[in-house]
Amino acid sequence: MTKFSSKKILLLAGAGHAHIGMLRRLSAERLKQTDTTDADIHLISEQPQTIYSGMLPGWMAGHYQLHDISIDIKSLCVRAGVRFVQQSLVQVNAASNKVVTTGDEQTDLAYDVLSLNTGADTDMRWLYDQNDHRNNGNNREFDTGTVGSDANTDVIAIRPLSTFIIQWQQILKDAQQSENYQLAIIGAGAAAIELVMAAQVALQKINRNHQVTLVCGENLLSGFNSGFRQRVIKQLHRHGITIIRERATDYCDGKLSTTHKSLPINAVIAATGVIGSAWTDSTDLEIKGNGFIAVNHKQQSVSHSNVFAVGDVATRVDKYVAHSGVHSVHGGAVEADNLLAYLKDSVMKGYQPKTRTLYLLSCGDKYAIGSWGNVNLQGRWVWHLKKYIDKRFIEADKD
Ligand SMILES: Cc1cc2nc3c(=O)[nH]c(=O)nc-3n(C[C@H](O)[C@H](O)[C@H](O)COP(=O)(O)OP(=O)(O)OC[C@H]3O[C@@H](n4cnc5c(N)ncnc54)[C@H](O)[C@@H]3O)c2cc1C
Repeated sequence: MTKFSSKKILLLAGAGHAHIGMLRRLSAERLKQTDTTDADIHLISEQPQTIYSGMLPGWMAGHYQLHDISIDIKSLCVRAGVRFVQQSLVQVNAASNKVVTTGDEQTDLAYDVLSLNTGADTDMRWLYDQNDHRNNGNNREFDTGTVGSDANTDVIAIRPLSTFIIQWQQILKDAQQSENYQLAIIGAGAAAIELVMAAQVALQKINRNHQVTLVCGENLLSGFNSGFRQRVIKQLHRHGITIIRERATDYCDGKLSTTHKSLPINAVIAATGVIGSAWTDSTDLEIKGNGFIAVNHKQQSVSHSNVFAVGDVATRVDKYVAHSGVHSVHGGAVEADNLLAYLKDSVMKGYQPKTRTLYLLSCGDKYAIGSWGNVNLQGRWVWHLKKYIDKRFIEADKD
């Protein structure tokens, strides 16, 4: 087991929105020489870069280059005085204050305080539930980002994003070789809607015959008000996107099955919500719902007080807080204060989400729809507002 010094060890697992905020804060404090953290800090991340999901549809539609939507975690760690460990977290053993990681080799890392911000996996149970015979009861095959029995007919999961970006580039190559490429996107949330419009713009640039279909079940954008939903549906129609309000059940041999239909489809992307990361199957931390770390209002594990979790990896036990980047950022700022307070044995805060959140949904071309409580907005200027906010997030530490 690796133990680095006599100082306390704060281990940050995952380079999600919250830990990016924490690294930026440490980096700024270091620059101003106001850093009072008396701990060795290590960050474990699978990749040296993190892809920013908010700009991913813009990249797919051709508005951004890959480097525009990537955050260089390794450099950020250097500036923050944090040791970067390029490994994957595979196990948390909270009883003995250690985690197991894999990469070039399997490693045990000890911690005094642990913060988890590893995000979540795409919820593929809609496919597994129908295909128990194909999966032999194992419903957590997330490692490659694809599932299914036939390598040519796999469903592409939107997460992990690092795998998705490679798969999307392959889709574009395949579409260039085709006269009539058919892509289906499965999902009914804001991410699925943004993806479907971005994909339609990208594929139609290649060939006007190419077509994207949204398979969304009956509850399209169920968390949004009806005015917002109507605006989104108009934009889907403007792009000529086929909408199938049925549940997808299977994808095999180039045929996508829905409740009543069977469609010839070249590739299927699933943006079907989130489920706890595979590693949460092997932890003694208390879990809530579908594999999420149960935390209180301080983002602190309800079973182990020296473990904190924030963003999509966690679920609050005291109230419903949606899994979203916004809450990872804002919850993460409170969690960062709490980590430092916990190390100094001082008072911690609670995260109180705002009652209204600004949602900006990009519509493929440079057009977007916004929602702020019951107020809905749309236009090219909304897309530019989204671009401004996204760039401000991604460029916060660029010179
Ligand atoms: C296309 C799309 C658009 C979206 N747009 C928005 C939006 O506009 N606004 C919004 O609020 N939400 C949006 N979301 C939702 C948002 O992406 C998530 O809620 C958010 O990313 C969760 O952030 P996080 O900090 O929990 O983790 P993530 O951003 O998922 O980051 C997790 C990090 O941990 C790393 N990691 C994962 N597993 C391990 C492991 N085992 N070991 C080590 N490292 C690991 C990953 O590589 C990644 O860097 C969108 C989602 C998608 C798919």
